[in-house]
Amino acid sequence: MFQQRMDRVRSLMAEEQVDVLLLSVGADLPYFCGYEAMPLERLTMLVVPQDGDTRLIVPRLEAPRVIERPGVFEMAVWDETDDPIDLASSLIGAASTAAIGDHTWAGFLVDLMKALPSTEFRRASEVTSPIRSVKDEAEVESLRAAAAAADRVAVDLRSGDIELAGRTEAEVSAELGRRLLAEGHQRVNFAIVAAGENAASPHHEPGERVIEPGEIVLCDFGGTMADADGVGYCSDITRCVHLGEPPADLVDAYDVLFEAQAAQVAAAEVGRPCQEVDRVGRGMIAEAGFGDNFIHRTGHGIGTEAHEDPYIVEGNTLELRAGHAFSIEPGIYLAGRWGLRLEDIVVAAADGPDNLTTTDHRLAVIDA
Ligand code: ZN
Ligand code: ZN
Ligand code: ZN
Repeated sequence: MFQQRMDRVRSLMAEEQVDVLLLSVGADLPYFCGYEAMPLERLTMLVVPQDGDTRLIVPRLEAPRVIERPGVFEMAVWDETDDPIDLASSLIGAASTAAIGDHTWAGFLVDLMKALPSTEFRRASEVTSPIRSVKDEAEVESLRAAAAAADRVAVDLRSGDIELAGRTEAEVSAELGRRLLAEGHQRVNFAIVAAGENAASPHHEPGERVIEPGEIVLCDFGGTMADADGVGYCSDITRCVHLGEPPADLVDAYDVLFEAQAAQVAAAEVGRPCQEVDRVGRGMIAEAGFGDNFIHRTGHGIGTEAHEDPYIVEGNTLELRAGHAFSIEPGIYLAGRWGLRLEDIVVAAADGPDNLTTTDHRLAVIDA
């Protein structure tokens, strides 16, 4: 698998005239070679020449963590008093164009630019994203398993099984996290719990605010779940619960959101540009008078990273391909009052959009 991925990135490097690919911290490295760099100050870097042997530069004390993959890469170990930039520069050699991982520490890039003044640096995502964003069948099944685990938590949330009234947002957030882990995730990436007026802030940090009867509670949570090979794929879901009978204006806005989100899921077909999927729902929300209240893009790609290409946003003319996996998560936010968002994970497929998220999409109303 790693060999195939490496072959594919090399042919894209040839097309894009990239002489060497440099991958450090972030999701590209584990995707292409099965090793995840520790996000610390010592340099770890996979050096992938367009042709020639691939080397993994790794500090001596972290070398025991590396699962060696002969044929994919050889290790180039550096000792504590060595200069890893010297080592990297010698492996990069006379490359005129290097593509460097987008999440690499800026300090290393600055040092490499100084050491290699005639090398032009580009973002690695130019050659890694087109490959990583198109999921193969096994990856889609891993995403489906992660989505199903998040669904089980969301079902408990909607049914009232997760206590809300009288608890703080932070307490509920911690419980959502514990449940994600209990359902098979290895890591919780986020668990937003936003009550009442806090729900109008899409990335609200759950705090000490106590959830009261009569309020909307917006929950957006997800984690990373390892597949059979130990590679982690992400989940991400948003559902809203209302404690007690919701006011009529909120119900009306939710109906608009529900219809818009369903239309966007249905529109996520192979061949359709990402921005058109965004426009479908945005148009419906604007039509209902909430145009200024949908203050973010429709969605983001998802895979081994919680947010990656392709982004479902105005200006992205990329046409969806079979295997593209992404969120569809429109929202309507009324500052100072309440907010609503509805989020699923969808995969574009030859026979139509494959919605991995199965939890009921209606507003859940719980007695309180
Ligand atoms: Zn978000
Ligand atoms: Zn989310
Ligand atoms: Zn999301």
